[in-house]
Amino acid sequence: MIEGAFDVVGAAGPRAFFEHLTPATLSHGYLFSGPQGVGKKHFAKALAHSLLCVTPKRSLLGWCGHCSGCTHVAAGTHPDLYLAEGQLKIGERDGSGFHDSDEPTARDLVRQLSMHSYAGGKRVFVLGDADFTREAANALLKFFEEPPAHVVLIVTTSALGRVMPTIRSRLVEVAFPLLHEPEIVEVLTRRGIARDDAAHAASVANGSATRALAFLDEGEGATRDAAVEWFFAAAEGGEADAAGWATRPTLEAGLETVKTLARDWIALGLGGEVPLLARDQRARLEALPQREPQAFARLLAAIGDAERIARTNVSPPLVADLVRMALAPTGR
Ligand SMILES: [Zn+2]
Repeated sequence: MIEGAFDVVGAAGPRAFFEHLTPATLSHGYLFSGPQGVGKKHFAKALAHSLLCVTPKRSLLGWCGHCSGCTHVAAGTHPDLYLAEGQLKIGERDGSGFHDSDEPTARDLVRQLSMHSYAGGKRVFVLGDADFTREAANALLKFFEEPPAHVVLIVTTSALGRVMPTIRSRLVEVAFPLLHEPEIVEVLTRRGIARDDAAHAASVANGSATRALAFLDEGEGATRDAAVEWFFAAAEGGEADAAGWATRPTLEAGLETVKTLARDWIALGLGGEVPLLARDQRARLEALPQREPQAFARLLAAIGDAERIARTNVSPPLVADLVRMALAPTGR
């Protein structure tokens, strides 16, 4: 027996959950839910690798790195590993690719699910950010009626509401929490990002490695900076120039920053040791006078409205102005 490697950052809960399972108690289907960018897909692939490693191990999680299963997984050629992302349609591009299919079809998937294991072990299906059409869901239900013992299906989603109840009820749900800051730093430095940059990005990423990476993308960082300056200018009743963020396609990211700042500002009014999402702006937020609860309620409502109309073709400066009016000190 050996201890296998399982190179996943964070996800202590899911890790403990699977470590307590054995091949006999493993279910045929899992639904990994949680916010975007917290490592659901990475965990799913690592779990798949673990299940396909043929060397006996102490725990369900981990792999030896040198058996035939590991060699094939590492090379992306394992015939019993099916990786797919995105929308599952039926009837389109039927019989499309196996490993590298970026637009999987449900019919293809159902056929693959019914096949025997090539290597004689498990067959593992990872459907990342799965978005089932009704037809695709119905086709999958056929699989759930009599799932073959050797198949393990892992579906990941950051939008639980979009997973149909009929599918959801047949999967074992595993919730993934937001990442802690040091965990995001770890994820980023593993990708070769300098520790200082990783630490800064992690401090503004609200627990999502994806958001941290987007921030390191110069554009996102600039959008956030512009939205932060605009927020404080507007809250102080000064000249607020939204040109740096209220544009397409940065409008939604800018509003996200504004919402985070507004929530942190409100949270500071609750007193005590408040953990902030926009930690780097704590001093400025603390210097901002608190408002009446009704004023804060109006502000959150305005941000909610802005988020809704941001998805329409309303001009971005008008969207920003809607929030600015609720953000300005009373009487301006
Ligand atoms: Zn192995």
